[in-house]
Amino acid sequence: MAVYRMFHELFNRKFGVDTVMVDMTDLEALKRAVTPGTKLVHIETPDNPIVGVTDIAAIAKIAHENGAVLSVDNTFASPLNQRPLDLGADFVVDALTKFINGHGDAQGGAIISNDLETMDRIRYEAQVNVGAVISPFNAWQIFRGSVTFPLRMERINRSALEIAGWLEQRENVTFVSYPGLSSHPGHELAKRQMQNGFGGVISFGVNADDKTVEQFCARLKVVTFAVSLGHDESLIFPQPSYDERIHLYPEKFRNGFIRFSVGLESPEDIIRDLDQAFHAVGL
Ligand SMILES: *Cc1c(COP(=O)(O)O)cnc(C)c1O
Repeated sequence: MAVYRMFHELFNRKFGVDTVMVDMTDLEALKRAVTPGTKLVHIETPDNPIVGVTDIAAIAKIAHENGAVLSVDNTFASPLNQRPLDLGADFVVDALTKFINGHGDAQGGAIISNDLETMDRIRYEAQVNVGAVISPFNAWQIFRGSVTFPLRMERINRSALEIAGWLEQRENVTFVSYPGLSSHPGHELAKRQMQNGFGGVISFGVNADDKTVEQFCARLKVVTFAVSLGHDESLIFPQPSYDERIHLYPEKFRNGFIRFSVGLESPEDIIRDLDQAFHAVGL
């Protein structure tokens, strides 16, 4: 969503850059959308917040055949699980704020590429000219968090798969979107392009109105109600049906939508907490 706003409101309206939104699971739609003027194709996989999966290698090929470069937002997968540069991407962006820092106490972002010349230019333009420079304290926090990143991520991968499987069994859960589940439309692709696990974000729907979803979130004791993700604590964030952006989602995701970021608590505790909150609101 933040990317949608940035491309539309900043790049398009303010800077006059033409931007087109394409469903990247539909490679034919992408082929139709790229033109000789296309400079950049940007994807998120798994994407926020639906947790859909798109084919990095196939999209890189289409981008390159048309003289464009591909950048991949790898935040949901994290570098333990997915290496877009090896799959043909030119740039990777990663919110260090999330799983890499992992403690919900610092903000930062990274751009990674093998093209060192362009990286030097980005560094000069974004950091020297514009001033997008991380504070030393945040840099230190993220550096320190990153030391335990692989261990945390392994745990989160395992817990998320278990919790997603548990959610899928519940009667009032209308869908569970997690690439590790065989029910996910991108599961086979995810098995090929994600090596060590499927990440820590699950989206799911409940058969309930906005108020009940809100009450469900409020009843949670272990899980925290918050907008971010990739923290040590599990975080839950519902998207109410009155949210104007919900209309960008496919139909089945528009009711009782919840994004869940799995934390470091024991998966049994998380499941027990979700279970008691479901019962408390009659779900
Ligand atoms: C949170 C997020 C970002 C932005 O990260 P901030 O550090 O919070 O600005 C970018 N991409 C994805 C997929 C995210 O979830």
